[in-house]
Amino acid sequence: MKEKLTFEMVPEECWYSNLRSILQPNDWDIVRRDAYARAGGRCMICGRYTKRLEAHEKWSYDEERALQKLEDVVALCHSCHEVKHISRTQLMGRGVEAMEHYQKVNECSQMEFHAALAKANEEYLRRNRVEGWTTDISWLENKFDIKLR
Ligand SMILES: [Zn+2]
Repeated sequence: MKEKLTFEMVPEECWYSNLRSILQPNDWDIVRRDAYARAGGRCMICGRYTKRLEAHEKWSYDEERALQKLEDVVALCHSCHEVKHISRTQLMGRGVEAMEHYQKVNECSQMEFHAALAKANEEYLRRNRVEGWTTDISWLENKFDIKLR
């Protein structure tokens, strides 16, 4: 399986360091709209046309250096966004829908879904054992002329 749509596991400690809380509301709008413009009305992962794109922050996690780095802000359809945040989605009772969407986009079986999820959960546990994450948002600072809160 070529995993087009992946899960993104955010360590607990980083839950509140999202861009929306770091940026002024107007600046978050600039970042968000830039992603929507690049998307051209289509989800950047599954390609579906939708009027309601959602901005998703893509972070990478370097466990050795305890570094959370912003890689991109992308525009996704609601279904792909729900898969990205699978734990929250499951808690909200939409786990089956998310599983079906994952299988459709990645053209895979239910077993492959569960295997990928187990792997992602391991990653989540590993990242949670790291303490003192620092945040690198140079992507944002290089791309936009905005100030942090
Ligand atoms: Zn999508």
